[in-house]
Amino acid sequence: MRRIYLDNNATTPALPQVVAAMQPWWTERFGNASAVHSHGRDAREAVDHAREQVAALIGARPNEVTFTGSGTEADNQAIFGALSAGDHLITSSIEHHAVLHAAQEAERRGAELTVVDPDRDGVVSVDVIRSALRPNTKLISLMLANNETGVLQPVQQVSALAREHGALVHTDAVQCGGKLAIRVCDLGCDLLSLSAHKMHAPQGVGALWVRRGVPIRPLLFGGPHERQRRAGTENVPGIVAFGEAAALASTWVQERSAELRDKHQHFEDELLRRIAGASIQGGQVARLPNTTSVRFDGIDAEALVIAMDLRGVSLSGGSACTSGAVEPSHVLRAMGLSDAEARSAVRISMSRLTTAEEVEETLEVLVETVERLRRMA
Ligand code: PLP
Repeated sequence: MRRIYLDNNATTPALPQVVAAMQPWWTERFGNASAVHSHGRDAREAVDHAREQVAALIGARPNEVTFTGSGTEADNQAIFGALSAGDHLITSSIEHHAVLHAAQEAERRGAELTVVDPDRDGVVSVDVIRSALRPNTKLISLMLANNETGVLQPVQQVSALAREHGALVHTDAVQCGGKLAIRVCDLGCDLLSLSAHKMHAPQGVGALWVRRGVPIRPLLFGGPHERQRRAGTENVPGIVAFGEAAALASTWVQERSAELRDKHQHFEDELLRRIAGASIQGGQVARLPNTTSVRFDGIDAEALVIAMDLRGVSLSGGSACTSGAVEPSHVLRAMGLSDAEARSAVRISMSRLTTAEEVEETLEVLVETVERLRRMA
């Protein structure tokens, strides 16, 4: 059976060019980027080149980019690096747990925390953030696009508000990297997280962009790597792969992203036309051009994910398995969906590798599977 992969917000396959770029850095070009001999200098040059490529993806200066071990680490670095005890942090209830759980830990360590809710469409409004501001608000962390719904957040406006107030803004752009054009100067934020495996590079590499002059304390202590910002021997193959993926993504975003946008739009139009009782979360607002969070009346998402998997299509449910119990998604709950509604939502996330044939086949299988599950219910 030919399998169709539509869970690209979870992770993406590495592109052949990316694998080819990283390959030599495990074998013949294996130096430690801190070493002074030529093996080391070679690795250092490769890391710096990758830094330029990642910086170019977001319109930043290379020396503002620090490589990390994941998007999660970049989020933690932004939060713990910016906040001290007594500082106030504002974040939203739809953030990834990499931000939410870090924010809760920062609160346990003495920071003040306000978690604001989105509206029914999944958008966190600037007004809600404005009303949460306090004189000691040091940081606002608001994601650029949500990983479950794809809904875009008003980071540019929040940054303008924060500037007036003297607060910093961090944005988790993990789901936007390689999907949308990002210019840090347009966004106006101070800190931005990326993750390589969401843009066709391997897992286990991320980056935090820190605007020049913004003081950030390190999360990890040890050697002087990454200009004292992140101790630990650099993952040279992973970083080289990230750089290559960023360069390919920059070109794709400029030249080819309209193709995915069209395929995705067609998929959603057909889905709503062919399946009664389907509704798309955030259907009326700006979203990523690859993400659909959809719920079907009378359908249990877990059953649908399993049935689709048996038919060769990988997608994901809007729930997380926490200590053996399936919890409804915190994002959908925050948007005001009931537990039952949240439990009927699935996420379908395409990539630039998704073909028109796969879109048509998925629609066929989805229509049949939803009908069959409804008959059985
Ligand atoms: N932030 C968002 C919005 C994500 O979707 C993810 C991963 O799913 C992360 C952060 C964490 O990134 P990583 O898997 O690289 O730790």
